[in-house]
Amino acid sequence: MKKVMVITGGSRGIGAACVRLAAKRGYAVCFSYVSSGQAAEALAAEVEAAGGTARAVKSDVAKESDILELFAAADEMGTVCGLVNNAGVVDKSDRVENYSAERLERMYGVNVIGSILCAREAIRRMSTKHGGQGGAIVNLSSAAAYLGSPNMYVDYAGAKAAIDTFTKGLSLEVAGEGIRVNAVRPGLIDTEIHASGGEPDRLERLSHTVPMGRAGSADEIANAVLWLMSDEASYITGDSLNVTGGR
Ligand code: NAP
Repeated sequence: MKKVMVITGGSRGIGAACVRLAAKRGYAVCFSYVSSGQAAEALAAEVEAAGGTARAVKSDVAKESDILELFAAADEMGTVCGLVNNAGVVDKSDRVENYSAERLERMYGVNVIGSILCAREAIRRMSTKHGGQGGAIVNLSSAAAYLGSPNMYVDYAGAKAAIDTFTKGLSLEVAGEGIRVNAVRPGLIDTEIHASGGEPDRLERLSHTVPMGRAGSADEIANAVLWLMSDEASYITGDSLNVTGGR
């Protein structure tokens, strides 16, 4: 049976970099997308052309039924041994006094509840308690979790802080069941997420505030994620790794 890694939000940015690297490392990759269908299919084709295995599945992590379909597709590919909880969203920069309930429902539905439900599905498959062979989970947190992101997206920062605490708690629950759970906290990374928050010039504006003087790349985050997934990180669990250029 092939070792399958599930990656949420693999059509673009950090998720797509994780898909490429996971496939290179020999995993069969089952990844999700929502709106970028063409990019997702092109990425799956690119991986297959390079001799790897990848399948793109339309699956919104804000919908439990979609998550069940994503994992059912992964089961068809082999044995699930890894999950990258990557799918995440920001919203327009704004102060808390202007937030709507709809904004908060999306923010926490995608970034927190979606990640926890995906972890649930992975544990049901990977835990030795359930007859699984063990595995690893890496959650995408953010430097926002400790910076707080005032006047931008305090709601997003809070959601990522929840991911850090979830990472710690879950890691302790399943440490004796063959599953390691860690998080990566990216800093300012060159992807389209900034434009989706209404700030296409965010990198230019803020790169000089990073101690290393530049934004990071999606590949630099994928390297950290795949390292935490690997046996080289076999004694690491419950940790959140800053990949921030020193921020
Ligand atoms: P991105 O470029 O905006 O890409 C987001 C990806 O998530 C896309 O593939 C998108 O798919 C997918 N996605 C969005 N909503 C989804 C949903 N409801 N269900 C499933 N997939 C969904 O973002 P990114 O910069 O690569 O960020 C990836 C992760 O890193 C996120 O968790 C983000 O919070 C975290 N992060 C990023 C930065 C940064 O500076 N870039 C910093 C800190 C943390 P479609 O395009 O198909 O909709």
